[in-house]
Amino acid sequence: MTVNALLNPQELLAKLTVLFVEDDEEIRQQMVQFLSRRFKQVRVACNGKQGLAAFREEKPDIILSDILMPEMDGLSMIRAIRDEDHHIPIIVLTAYNEEQYLLRSIELGIDRYLLKPVNTKSLSEALEKIVSNLWQRKEREEADSYLRLLMDIHPNLLLTTSDDQVVYLNRAFLHRLEVDQLGDFLSNPTGLGELLLDQHGTPLSQAGGLWLHRLEELAQNAPLVYLKNPTQPDEAPLALVVECRQMTPPHCQLFTFADVSAIEGQLKHLEHMAFTDTLTGLANRAMGQKSLTKEINRCQRYNRTFSVILLDVDHFKKVNDTYGHEVGDQVLQGLAGLLQNTVRRSDMVVRWGGEEFLVVLPESSFQDARMIAEKLRSNVAAHTFSTVEHITCSFGVAQFDQTLGMQSLVAKADAALYLAKERGRNRVEPI
Ligand code: GH3
Ligand code: MG
Ligand code: MG
Repeated sequence: MTVNALLNPQELLAKLTVLFVEDDEEIRQQMVQFLSRRFKQVRVACNGKQGLAAFREEKPDIILSDILMPEMDGLSMIRAIRDEDHHIPIIVLTAYNEEQYLLRSIELGIDRYLLKPVNTKSLSEALEKIVSNLWQRKEREEADSYLRLLMDIHPNLLLTTSDDQVVYLNRAFLHRLEVDQLGDFLSNPTGLGELLLDQHGTPLSQAGGLWLHRLEELAQNAPLVYLKNPTQPDEAPLALVVECRQMTPPHCQLFTFADVSAIEGQLKHLEHMAFTDTLTGLANRAMGQKSLTKEINRCQRYNRTFSVILLDVDHFKKVNDTYGHEVGDQVLQGLAGLLQNTVRRSDMVVRWGGEEFLVVLPESSFQDARMIAEKLRSNVAAHTFSTVEHITCSFGVAQFDQTLGMQSLVAKADAALYLAKERGRNRVEPI
């Protein structure tokens, strides 16, 4: 049957089939007359056993049943039916002296309990009420199945929830999770909360509270989440922009996830390019300024210190003039590698300008920085570069203090470097 919300309850009944189970022949005949006028089709059974068989065969829309019957009583039949179908509307018709069964009927989820002899008016009312509920449910089911169909043909990852439970994942999502059946996923839906990460790499399930609530919060504020590959945990997770839409009925939500991994990868690449010196592969001046600002802020907040070394190749113009620009470039590359290998990983070497480099030394005192500069100086002087063989550098050292900003700190190191040049080059000058 298809849903048509414009029909009234009688018209709706006329589209349905009913199974009537009753052992009393006389009642059966009367009721069949009554029901045939209202239903599209009436199927009759004389006891619970036949009733159960008819239910399995015909899949009626509604069941009406007596309780006391031979072979299998009504309640046993209903219990067996309920095991197979939680929703089918069931009306029990029974004699006054069988009222003891009322409680058991309630337990079995019986929709109506009517006393014999059946008052046709109450039965009509009961049927009309049931049919409207049935129709509402059918409408919901049809809407659900349309939604699921649409979700399944959508290439994005989609999931729906109801009362904070995942109820559906579309095919693209199941495919990504390498799960064949929705049922397999729904048996452990919290696993998804462990695979979905926030921007700091923290699984949503570890955020405290329900992971679906965390997902909703991210969708509203910072709509980027990451999905780990469940079978390849080392693979880069997918970057997904998540949106959350409230749906009808209330407490139902649709989460959509758009894969932006490719764009994110490009952005990261562009960012890397923007902050990297192409000749040497070191951080460029923009990156150096960014890191210096960060380091200064950190030291101001926690009352810490750090130092910088500014160094410049001595008489580099001569290298270019004698061997050509290309050899000059190779010297800069070799020097960059040498500097990088001499300092700690937590230090940063920046190509500050043409043949000028800045080394940022977090948590280093002036004395530490002087020693490091001296080590760099002697390493450079001792190194054999291809073609030019030997070069030297001059070094200026400065330590951060709370009165200095980025520019004044670098200016201080530059003044020291100037002194080193003036005093003969290939030397370290502190200020
Ligand atoms: P000083 O000891 O006083 O520093 O002398 P210098 O010759 O090193 O200084 P100067 O500033 O006169 O010359 C720097 C030279 O560095 C000039 C410039 O062409 C060269 N240079 C700057 N960047 C690059 C580069 O990327 N590659 C090459 N090959 N040369 C560069
Ligand atoms: Mg120079
Ligand atoms: Mg220079």
